Amino acid sequence: MSRRPSFLARFAPNLVLLLFGPFLGAAPLCAQQHRNLEEALVITDVNVIDVRTGEVRPDQVVVIERNRITTVGSKGTRYPRNAPTVNAKGGYLIPGLWDMHVHLVFGDWFPLAQEISLPLFIANGVTSVRDMGSELKTVQAFRNQIENGERLGPRILTSGPMLDGPKPRFPSSLAIATPDDGRRAVDVLKRRGVDFIKLQSLIPADAVTAIAEEARKEELPFEGHVPDAVRAADMSAAGMRSFEHLIGVFEGSSPAEAEFLNGTKTEAKFLSTYDPARAEALAAILAKNQTWQCPTLVWERGGNLIDVTDYSKDPRAKYVPAYWKDVTWKKMREDVKASFGTDDLATRRKFLDKELEVVQMLHKAGVPFLAGTDTPPGVFIFPGFSLHEELQRFVEAGFTPLEALQTATLNPARFFGMEDQLGTVAMGKMADLVLLDANPLADIANTQKIAAVIVNGRYFSRNDLQRVLQKVEESAKNSRRNPER
Ligand SMILES: [Zn+2]
Repeated sequence: MSRRPSFLARFAPNLVLLLFGPFLGAAPLCAQQHRNLEEALVITDVNVIDVRTGEVRPDQVVVIERNRITTVGSKGTRYPRNAPTVNAKGGYLIPGLWDMHVHLVFGDWFPLAQEISLPLFIANGVTSVRDMGSELKTVQAFRNQIENGERLGPRILTSGPMLDGPKPRFPSSLAIATPDDGRRAVDVLKRRGVDFIKLQSLIPADAVTAIAEEARKEELPFEGHVPDAVRAADMSAAGMRSFEHLIGVFEGSSPAEAEFLNGTKTEAKFLSTYDPARAEALAAILAKNQTWQCPTLVWERGGNLIDVTDYSKDPRAKYVPAYWKDVTWKKMREDVKASFGTDDLATRRKFLDKELEVVQMLHKAGVPFLAGTDTPPGVFIFPGFSLHEELQRFVEAGFTPLEALQTATLNPARFFGMEDQLGTVAMGKMADLVLLDANPLADIANTQKIAAVIVNGRYFSRNDLQRVLQKVEESAKNSRRNPER
């Protein structure tokens, strides 16, 4: 995109602040409407949270040039006096948040991701996502547009399509029946530029082995569901990088594991056969191999209680298209209810408590954790908003607020080997930041008190974010007229 001289240059710096928003009037999002990124942005008087240690450093000055943090220092630190300045007194600065389990373009099940999901992430301070199964071409186009400043959205790492069994259950999937299918899929996806391989539940065991070998050879991480036919301990030993939804963990904590591999799994049976000694032995393996867990706790709760939860009055429902609610989520809700089988509500509630207990046990054993939501295929799991609920679920599981915050900041950066670029508020890192009105270490729910978001060096004030949300709401409303989109 060509770069015209910044219109901001015409205004005095203090006025510039009022005009940072990219959504002036009905104009489309364009790089030119931002502050000239060559100009510095200075945040003063801010409490900087060190998410490694939990230290809160008061009265800090943070300087951002282009898309980098170039200075983090105490009061008195020198900074360009003519640069636009945000006085953030009373505010708390944290790294941009990650949602480590999303599906941006899930076949045609959730139309309008570019107008709904991408801006909702930013409005909620989610500046990076791990896309766990999508239409690769579309997502790569989004990524290019976002990097060029033509589109508002988070950083994206993606698997492209998921690998599933001969009859995949979901869209954006490749059917894998044989080891050869598996190897071919890994090679094709590598050539097409995916960041990692996503496994689903139905891949046959011999094909799983072939995929793992091929992925190691191609130096592509593989992550996702522990396939139904394979043990969690074996997938961990094979180098699977992350497990989703705790799949495999209850199976591997039970003397009935072999039965689970061949047959039906029920939560009642997970509960009745749970063996703490086996669970701890599995935890030791996961810790030793540093097999990351992305338990998607908010969706575990949403799914297990879906028959007793009324989402129709949820104020966030106005941000999503009728098609999501009335077609896709409606159908998925019925599928989820059907999958309960013999598990009654009391059992499912007990299982939710047990999941939190197991998460805490794994955490104590040294197993690393990631915050992910499974939005939007998780029914009424909202892009951006639900990540904050996930952090609260971690605290309910016994994490400290700092540890919960790490699952969406420092840990994802570590997971992707990007710690030198992202994950903390520090000099030299990418300028992905969230400014909060209250301390999230005092109450994790304070991550929702967003005063501003900085994504790749661009500043969005609370008002700017409000305009982003308004625009999403309009897109959702207008989509009623075009349900086929
Ligand atoms: Zn998923």
